[in-house]
Amino acid sequence: MSARLECPLCGQVVVDGTGDIVAGVCHGCGARYEGGEGDAPGSVAAAVAGFGADDLDAREVLDAVFRLTPAQSAERGVSITSDTRDDFYRWWLFVRAGESGEPADVLRQVVGR
Ligand SMILES: [Zn+2]
Repeated sequence: MSARLECPLCGQVVVDGTGDIVAGVCHGCGARYEGGEGDAPGSVAAAVAGFGADDLDAREVLDAVFRLTPAQSAERGVSITSDTRDDFYRWWLFVRAGESGEPADVLRQVVGR
């Protein structure tokens, strides 16, 4: 199987090769990505847990992320994207935290907490 994932925040190809994609860090901009489920709601729920933001409602995060314009995504450092692979694609939530910030805090700001 081959899979490819591009960072939606900086355009860097994060994964391109054989084997499955696991959560990790973009070496272009330092964003962390989590998710990897076959649908966007499931992936955001997995990402919210992976980022330690269990206090947030994953559906609220999903709505907020999908409402962001590309410019707002870049500014806030949050974006959702799908990978490309031989079979059905999976979704990934990318979060770029500031120097001292945590991805969970970035997500809290996006939903207005
Ligand atoms: Zn990146």
